[in-house]
Amino acid sequence: MEQFLVDKFGRKHDYLRISLIERCNLRCHYCMPEDGIQLRDKSEFMSQEELFKIVDEFVALGIKKIRLTGGEPLIKKNFAEILKHLASLGVELNITTNGILLDKYWDDLKAANVKSLNISIDSLEKDKFNAITRRNYFDRVYQNIITAVEKGFDVKLNAVLIKNENDGEIIDFIELTKKYPFSVRFIEFMPFDGNKWDWSKTVSYETVLSLVNFEYGDKLKQLQTEPNGTSRNFQVKGYKGSFGIISSVTNPFCDSCNRIRLTADGKIKNCLFSEEETDLLTALRKGKDVKHLIFESINSKHKERAGLKAFEAKDFKTRNRSMISIGG
Ligand code: SF4
Repeated sequence: MEQFLVDKFGRKHDYLRISLIERCNLRCHYCMPEDGIQLRDKSEFMSQEELFKIVDEFVALGIKKIRLTGGEPLIKKNFAEILKHLASLGVELNITTNGILLDKYWDDLKAANVKSLNISIDSLEKDKFNAITRRNYFDRVYQNIITAVEKGFDVKLNAVLIKNENDGEIIDFIELTKKYPFSVRFIEFMPFDGNKWDWSKTVSYETVLSLVNFEYGDKLKQLQTEPNGTSRNFQVKGYKGSFGIISSVTNPFCDSCNRIRLTADGKIKNCLFSEEETDLLTALRKGKDVKHLIFESINSKHKERAGLKAFEAKDFKTRNRSMISIGG
């Protein structure tokens, strides 16, 4: 009998996000701690064979969609091999990338039937982009975004909004969708280890909504939210593209959560904010069955945001990894 990963709130988990690597060719300050993260021995991470074994278990438990994240997944040496193997499993494959190396993998992505690319770009201003990422790749990223659209990929642009840093560009991003059919997603800044998160830096769902309502008025229409969707989507009438707001901090969307995360060191997080993790890799290396560990993790999932207190609470605290070792 086919088994599914259904938690005690009736949510069926069929979407696996895999962080392939804890390294990146950017240093975004809301993701990578200022002093970087401690580099760890290769043996602490899943080998290709171990990754495939664990993914096979998940697919057998009803996973239908896989997203590859990082760090930056495209810097993984055997990325093309991993992509090819996962494409053979008959699941929907998606990628979240910073876009720098996309031009190396167009053929591999097409061959693996990858249709959707989420590309991170937090500013349309070169200097600000370089300041946020602490690297100088704006031109290459921007060119790869345009090329991805031209090659027919379904492109989503992920922009993490931080108050007084890039929130002044919300309308500029939306105006890009007049010409290009991509979906801009404004992501609320979230608390992770080492990113100096502070409630006051958050640009809330309501703030974005009132700004765009003021700017576009009745030219704005709300779009259907995708099943299990994380983004509330809108479109300016007559524009080719759309935009959305992902509001985990001020307006969470946990009711329809279908996501589970696998980290590069072989642990699963049943929620982006979960402080508890389940170690599959150690069990696998001891020849133990990992299926029951996966079920245990799903059964212990909280209804909302890993049971964390309200983020605006004065004494709000969380002990989580840095974003680079979760992959969003
Ligand atoms: S916060 Fe956790 S439970 Fe809520 S949608 Fe995100 S991953 Fe799912």
